[in-house]
Amino acid sequence: MRFSLRCILLVFVLAAIFCSPTLARGAEVSADRAYGHVENLVNIAPRLAGTEAEAIAASYIENEFRSYGLEVWIENFTIESSYVIEENRLRVTSENSMSYNVVALLPGQSDEIMVIGAHHDSVLTPGAVDDASGVAVVLEIARVLSTENLPRTILFTTFGSEELGLLGSEAFVRKHAENNIVVTIVFDSIAPGDENGLRVGLRGPQEVATTEWLDAYAQELAENLDFHVKSEHLSDVGGYSDYASFTEVDIPGTWVYWVNPQHGEILWPIHTLADNLDAVDNVRLEQVASFGAQLVRQLAEEDLEALAWADELPPLLFAAFAVMSTGAVVLSIAAGSFMRYKRGWSWSRAAWVFSFLTAAAVVAAYIWLLA
Ligand SMILES: [Zn+2]
Repeated sequence: MRFSLRCILLVFVLAAIFCSPTLARGAEVSADRAYGHVENLVNIAPRLAGTEAEAIAASYIENEFRSYGLEVWIENFTIESSYVIEENRLRVTSENSMSYNVVALLPGQSDEIMVIGAHHDSVLTPGAVDDASGVAVVLEIARVLSTENLPRTILFTTFGSEELGLLGSEAFVRKHAENNIVVTIVFDSIAPGDENGLRVGLRGPQEVATTEWLDAYAQELAENLDFHVKSEHLSDVGGYSDYASFTEVDIPGTWVYWVNPQHGEILWPIHTLADNLDAVDNVRLEQVASFGAQLVRQLAEEDLEALAWADELPPLLFAAFAVMSTGAVVLSIAAGSFMRYKRGWSWSRAAWVFSFLTAAAVVAAYIWLLA
């Protein structure tokens, strides 16, 4: 009896030791919680910017962040148009109205800030995929990271007025111009779709393109987590999101979304009335939130300048190599001519000697550049 009691105690101790890394890491992402957030936000829809519904959504998100123990505040900004619904008709007014960014702070060990965002406003739809899904993902990431002490400070932010032209993220970037924002990740439109629907990044004109080294970094992590992931081109997606307000002022940014490649419009059903609760897949929400939490943890520890520099280095090295090689060839021809005419060398001798010297110089340049 005593022996079996010891065995049981031993099992408990071993279990505690083996489980401790998981416990230390805090809570795990919950599909049900994420889906519940989408449900609650859909119940407030349409969450048109500048309307009472947007204010209610912002207050819901504020309370959620606060319940995770985070410091939260709302940043108001004025928009020059708004919507009113009169007799079931939507009317756009030119009156000023108030829109909101909800910001939650997870203090880190440095003042370098990572912004993890989504937008809570919608068009005249339930806005379940676009973008209650992204808000749900950001809330879940905030919840699971809320007890962690990361090297960088995180501002979890849900923007207002994205659908009016990224107005909330523009206001945020203006307001935080003096702060040291080093990277932003936006979760917008986690649509239902097949296993291979995860996308990170958008290619296209500079104004909408995400930051390539950041896309590549996030994609590598996603591949390690067994996702099949790639970027899309603007022409296939037809839209972009709040990260563009950051990349416009040279803050690296990327966009995480989930598409349905089998569907004609890969981001279906956004901006249609089918963008309702039925369109949301809680498994996708959980997968994206888990990936997102891991991405934030990992990026918070990275030397971002080195990552960005590593991306720029190969073309610079190639250019330097081309310049040095061309220089070596020109110098050799000049030196060969000099030896031919001033010292009476034969052409073949000059060619042999200086071809050898040129080749040696090029190899030396190559080795030096790679070192
Ligand atoms: Zn959106």
